[in-house]
Amino acid sequence: MKIPFSPPYVDDAVIDEVVDSLRSGWITTGPKVKALEEEIKAFSGAEQVLCVNSWTSGAIMMLRWLGVKEGDEVIVPAYTYSATALAVLHAGAKPVMADSGTDFNISVDAIRKSITPKTKAIIPVDIAGFPCDYDAIMKLVNEPAIKSLYQAETENQRNMSRILVLNDAAHSLGAWYQSGIRTGSETDIAIFSLHAVKNITTAEGGAICLNLPAPFDNEALYKELRQMSLNCQTKDAFSKSKAGGWRYDIVGFGMKINMADVNAAIGLAQIRQYDDLLQERKRVFELYNNEFSKTDWAITPPQKMNGRETSYHIYALRIKSFTDEQRDAMIEDIAKKEVAVNVHFIPMPMLTFFKEMGYDINNYPQAYENYKSEISLPIYPQLTDEQVNYVIEAVQEAYEKVK
Ligand SMILES: *Cc1c(COP(=O)(O)O)cnc(C)c1O
Repeated sequence: MKIPFSPPYVDDAVIDEVVDSLRSGWITTGPKVKALEEEIKAFSGAEQVLCVNSWTSGAIMMLRWLGVKEGDEVIVPAYTYSATALAVLHAGAKPVMADSGTDFNISVDAIRKSITPKTKAIIPVDIAGFPCDYDAIMKLVNEPAIKSLYQAETENQRNMSRILVLNDAAHSLGAWYQSGIRTGSETDIAIFSLHAVKNITTAEGGAICLNLPAPFDNEALYKELRQMSLNCQTKDAFSKSKAGGWRYDIVGFGMKINMADVNAAIGLAQIRQYDDLLQERKRVFELYNNEFSKTDWAITPPQKMNGRETSYHIYALRIKSFTDEQRDAMIEDIAKKEVAVNVHFIPMPMLTFFKEMGYDINNYPQAYENYKSEISLPIYPQLTDEQVNYVIEAVQEAYEKVK
C-alpha cells in the first residue's frame, strides 16, 4: 500500500472555485483574496487578515515594517523550519536562537535568558500545530524590567513600546490557544502559511493576522500593509484596470508579495469545509495515539493541555531513548513498505548555513533530544482507517527490527 506524506486536499469544490476564478476574467488579487481574508478572520478571530504569497515574505515585510536593522536581535527557536530565522536575516537583523521544551515549542525560560537591549521581536513557533504558552510569553514581554530594557528606534517601535510577539503560526491555523480562542488572535501578529503541505493551502501563500495594541489602528494598518505588499503603489491592478483609472504613485519602498485570486480560490473552497477537515485530521491523530500510547517505547505528541489544542498538522512521534542512527534505520524500514514519513525538524544549528554563522547544536540540548528520535507520520483527511492501521503496523515492525 503506497501512502504519500502530505497530498493537498483537492475536491470538486476546490476545482470549481479555481475554474470560477479562471472564467471570471480576473485572476490576480481581487474578490477571491478578499473573501479568503474574511474567512480566515472569522475562523481565527484575528482583528485584520492580509493574504500574501508566502509565510516567509509576510514575515520579512512585518519585520521591515517594524524597522529592524543591522545589530537588532529577534529571538527564534533553534527547533523550527529555517524560514523562521531566514526571514529575520532577510529583514537585516540577527536571529538569536533559543532552546525548546519537551513539547517541541520554544522554552519561555530560554526566551527570558535571550532577551537583551537589542531584542526587537520574538517569533515563537506553534510546532506541529500545538500552540506555545502565549499567556506566559505576553506576560514576559510586559514585565516592567523587560520593558525598561527595550530601546525603541523607529516610530512603530515607539508605538509598540515593548518587544513585539510575532507568532509563526505556519502550522497552527485551526488550533485553540485557550478554550474558545483560536490561534491568530492571541499575539500582536500571527502569520499562517498556506503552502502546499499545510492544513489549508493556496499552493503558495501566507495570511498575516493583525492584533496590534493601541495606539495602532489595525484597520488602517491593514490598508497600509496591503499597499506595502504591492510595491507601495497607490492603486492596485484591480482599480487601475477600471476605465480612466490609470494614474498612480509609488509612496514608499514596498515589496511585491500579493496573493493571486486563482491561488486564493483553492484555500477559499478548503476553509469553508475546515471544521470537517479538522475532524478528519483529529480522527487520524487519535487512531495513532490509541495504538502508540499502549506501548512503552513511544512518546506521543502533545494534543490538548490547559485549553490549548493542536491543529493536528503534524503527528510527531518520538521513540524513547533512540539515537538518530536508530531513528534513521526505522525510517528506512518504513520506506520499504512505501509509507512516506518525515522528520520535523533538523534543528537549524545542524544545517550548514547556520553552522557556518557560528550556531552550535551543543547549545540546544533539548532541540537535539526532540529531533534525534522523531518521526512524523502521515496525517491528512483523505487517509482511511485501514491506511492508518497499515502505517501503525509499519512503524511497529520497524521498531521491533531496530530496537
Ligand atoms: C512552512 C513553514 C514556514 C514557511 O512557510 P512558507 O509559506 O513556505 O514561506 C515557516 N515556518 C514554519 C514553521 C513552517 O513549517
